[in-house]
Amino acid sequence: MKVFINPGHHVTLDSGAVNPVTGDREVDIAIECAKLVEKYLLAAGVECTVGQYNELQEICDASNAYDADVFVSIHCNACESHEARGTETYYKSFSGQHLASCIQSQIIRSIAMIDRGVKEGNLYVLKHTEAVAALVELGFIDNMDDLAMLKDNTDTFARAIARGITDYEIA
Ligand SMILES: [Zn+2]
Repeated sequence: MKVFINPGHHVTLDSGAVNPVTGDREVDIAIECAKLVEKYLLAAGVECTVGQYNELQEICDASNAYDADVFVSIHCNACESHEARGTETYYKSFSGQHLASCIQSQIIRSIAMIDRGVKEGNLYVLKHTEAVAALVELGFIDNMDDLAMLKDNTDTFARAIARGITDYEIA
């Protein structure tokens, strides 16, 4: 199994969501988490790579060129009221739903995040990657409670995502 891990957004070109109080950026949390997922997958003997690109089609092209079996994109959420909280994972295909469920349930089991569930999403990177694909929104970076969870538990999130991926492989 080959896994393509995509931290959402781009360090210099697209910060993603930003916490309006602290300035914490989605892109930085996503990269830190993705690199840890890579570390834990490699430790488990799973072939994987991390790729981040500004253009959505570039992300899909890189995953497809890598010939990935599994594609996981890592993001943080935001909402206008700054009051929403919790983790949710998106899928497009039937097998993507299974992958998303494996990842979501490992996160909810490991970290006291609100469970927003797995959801079908018509997202570009889910539609245009050939791999079984899921996109995880770890939590709401613009909510102070979720931000604290994201920063204090980045390693735990990463371990949970890696376990979710290996759960999917075994099942
Ligand atoms: Zn994002």
